[in-house]
Amino acid sequence: MEIKRLDLGHLYVTAHAWPVHGYVILHEQLGVVLVDTGCGGPDEVLRHYKVVNRTVADALADHGLAPIDVTMVINTHLHFDHCGQNPAFAHAPLLVQRAEHERIVRARDDVSAWIEASGMTFELVDGSRALAPDLRIVASPGHTSGHQSVVATTGRGIELFIGDAAYTRAVWEKAGAGRLPEGQAEDVETWRGSLANLKALAPARVHFCHDG
Ligand SMILES: [Zn+2]
Repeated sequence: MEIKRLDLGHLYVTAHAWPVHGYVILHEQLGVVLVDTGCGGPDEVLRHYKVVNRTVADALADHGLAPIDVTMVINTHLHFDHCGQNPAFAHAPLLVQRAEHERIVRARDDVSAWIEASGMTFELVDGSRALAPDLRIVASPGHTSGHQSVVATTGRGIELFIGDAAYTRAVWEKAGAGRLPEGQAEDVETWRGSLANLKALAPARVHFCHDG
């Protein structure tokens, strides 16, 4: 298994620029697995976050890959900066938690309307799912009610693709003590529980979406 980090541009939360990262897992059995697709969605949302976007095609090309090479997409959740370029992967299954899909249907906001209009079809996952003996999805709700993370077992040990269950290493290391960054937890108690579960995996490496 090989892991590549994708540079998908950045966005602004108040005055701070946040990088946006997705990850490619080159897997012997599953092919090219993409975790999160970067920013896209309604103009007013992109404008609000002053998104400086990079297309997922350009980000993949940095690693000699193209969207058509991707065999599976896992969306950690359905915020615009994680599923925004899903339309580039109409040929691949898009795996998302059922609870997350229900959340956006219920939300009826600009992003959910955009997702609906895009015609994306999701493969819905209920909780944990083994994709291969060394790769699995785990539910990690709290940032959103249907958030999920991806756990790989590599030669280094456990590698965790955390999604937005912790925006940054600082949040991960403090385990949610102190003041949380804006938007970190929709439901703080549930979020703390998920973070404790992820910590219990004792990952050798954690791959963040919004850390430098
Ligand atoms: Zn995010």
